[in-house]
Amino acid sequence: MNLILMGLPGAGKGTQAERIVAKYGLPHISTGDMFRSAIKEGTELGKQAKSYIDAGELVPDHVTVGIVRERLGKADCRGGFLLDGFPRTTAQAEALDDLLAETDRRIDAVLYINVDRDRLMERLTGRRVCGQCGATYHIKLNPPKQEGVCDKCGGELTHRKDDRPETVKTRLEVNEQQQQPLLDFYKAKGCLKEIDGNQPIDDVFASIENILGSLSA
Ligand SMILES: [Zn+2]
Repeated sequence: MNLILMGLPGAGKGTQAERIVAKYGLPHISTGDMFRSAIKEGTELGKQAKSYIDAGELVPDHVTVGIVRERLGKADCRGGFLLDGFPRTTAQAEALDDLLAETDRRIDAVLYINVDRDRLMERLTGRRVCGQCGATYHIKLNPPKQEGVCDKCGGELTHRKDDRPETVKTRLEVNEQQQQPLLDFYKAKGCLKEIDGNQPIDDVFASIENILGSLSA
C-alpha cells in the first residue's frame, strides 16, 4: 500500500500516522525526517539540500524529488509507505507519479483527514505551553488542574503567538490554498479518500481501516 496522508494543521495527522504505522507496518516518511537523514548520511543530494537550507532558501524540487526517490528506493518501502508532508504541489505530485512509475509502482490512496475550520481553530488556539518545563495543555481537550498553572512543575502556562487566533487563521488559510490543488489533482485521479476528521480519534482510525481494507480486498 503506497499511501499519502493529507490534512491541515490540527487535523490529527500525527496521531493517525502513528496508528497506521503500528497496524500496517508501513514506514512513515515525513519530509523533515527525509531531509534530516539525507543530510546526516551525507549523500550528494543531502549536501545540496543542506546548502539551500543553510542559506535560508527553499530546497528546489529537483533536490527534494531526488531525496524522495532515494528514500522510496530503500528496502523498507517495498511493501508500501506512508508519505506525510510530500508532495506539497501538483508539480511534485506529478514528479512522484513519474518516479514511482520507474519501479512499476503508484499511489494507491491519498488519505485526506478533513476537519471543519471552526474545530481546527478551537484545537489550535486552545494550546497552552508551560514556560518552565515545556509541557503542553489544551484548555478544553487536556486542561491543567488549575487554570494557567502547569500540573507538572507549577510553572506559568503561556499562550504562544503561534497559537493565537490571528496567527492560526492565517496559517490555516495559507495551508488551505496550498492544499486545494493537490486535493483536486488526486480527486481527478480517483485515489482521494476523504475521511471525516471531526469524529473522535478512534472513529477516524476506523474510517481509515475501512478504506485500507477495501484497497487490499
Ligand atoms: Zn511545567
